[in-house]
Amino acid sequence: MRDNEMFDIIAQEEQRQLDNVELIASENFVSREVREAQGSVLTNKYAEGLPGHRYYGGCVNVDKAEQLTKDRAMKLFGAEFVNVQPHSGAQANMAVYNAILQPGDVVMGMNLTSGGHLTHGSGVNFSGKLYHFIEYNVNKETELIDYDELEHMAMIIKPKLIVAGASAYPRIIDFKRFGEIAHKCGAYLMVDMAHIAGLVACGLHPSPIPYADFVTTTTHKTLRGPRGGMVFCKEEFGKKLNSSVFPGLQGGPLEHVIAAKGVCLYEAMQPSFKEYMEQTLKNVQVMVKGFQEAGYRLVSGGSDNHLLLVDLKGSKGMTGKRGEYLLDLAGITVNKNTIPFETEKPFVTSGLRIGAAAMTSRGFKEAEFEKVIHWIVDVLDHDDEDYAKSVRKEVVALTRQFPAEAQI
Ligand code: PLP
Repeated sequence: MRDNEMFDIIAQEEQRQLDNVELIASENFVSREVREAQGSVLTNKYAEGLPGHRYYGGCVNVDKAEQLTKDRAMKLFGAEFVNVQPHSGAQANMAVYNAILQPGDVVMGMNLTSGGHLTHGSGVNFSGKLYHFIEYNVNKETELIDYDELEHMAMIIKPKLIVAGASAYPRIIDFKRFGEIAHKCGAYLMVDMAHIAGLVACGLHPSPIPYADFVTTTTHKTLRGPRGGMVFCKEEFGKKLNSSVFPGLQGGPLEHVIAAKGVCLYEAMQPSFKEYMEQTLKNVQVMVKGFQEAGYRLVSGGSDNHLLLVDLKGSKGMTGKRGEYLLDLAGITVNKNTIPFETEKPFVTSGLRIGAAAMTSRGFKEAEFEKVIHWIVDVLDHDDEDYAKSVRKEVVALTRQFPAEAQI
């Protein structure tokens, strides 16, 4: 007996993914193999504990799968230690805090509107409720992290932990400088490289591994794996990290997801993955140029990575919410986003965050992104629902030529 109701919904989502231009910077299209691993029989298995030390019998095969994933993760990122069990990026961050902090400890993290993540100390998140986060901002003029200011603050505040990394920061982050600042003021450094993990994996963004005590990541953004998290750390913190994840925060690991993480790491080790990430960077530059030529202001004046942030309000007096809505009508999916020193509410915002990783996975190159940026500017400039809807036909005619899964 098949659950047609649910499978119909899934089929509709498959069609939506095929038809739309997906520009959400945190999303990607995984390969068929990643999905195959995630949809495998490993979902049936309980395996509390770690490879070789489980609280359940019958773990011979999941032990091999998890160990292979760990070995690949350490090799790819040049790390001493990893835990691949966190169910998500938020849980990876929680695992680090839970390993080394006590409730009330002082931590520094980047403000949400400067590009930080909710789990970097937002008051509505467990991180901001449990620990005493003090936020740092980007510089108001340059919209870049101001490392001198950060150092000045850190030497006064003397936090126990500094959190680096972001969800909406379009520039290279200087992890070496972060490491120097953290260690000068006696803090641990945690880098959340969720967004840029794919770039780090192939050397297109400097790696935080040599400088940070802990590095967390999601596996589903530029790294192009299943939804999930991982934490790397120095060997000396390994035991604490492991017991923070289990039994500290989680029960049984999702071994099917861990196997899919292993497959994505295998793919990320191939030369074709570096080509993919290089193409993503080129495609972002096509959009940077298109926006700038059309008179739109980009936060920080451009991008060094897989995403850009458009200051829609500053450029055209339009909110992020309106821009997202209009582009959605045209079949182009982006997300409204706060920009540094935001004046609108988080559900309205002044900006749009736009990323190229997902459509590059489908095979879009410069020529396709030229079309995409032309449509985006056209739709935003017209600021008209009917016009936006009229663009959709052209969008679908292009997207249906590219399979909605990673081309490896
Ligand atoms: N860290 C960063 C920098 C992120 O951008 C995100 C998600 O967008 C997360 C953590 C949280 O990941 P998840 O949604 O898997 O909990």
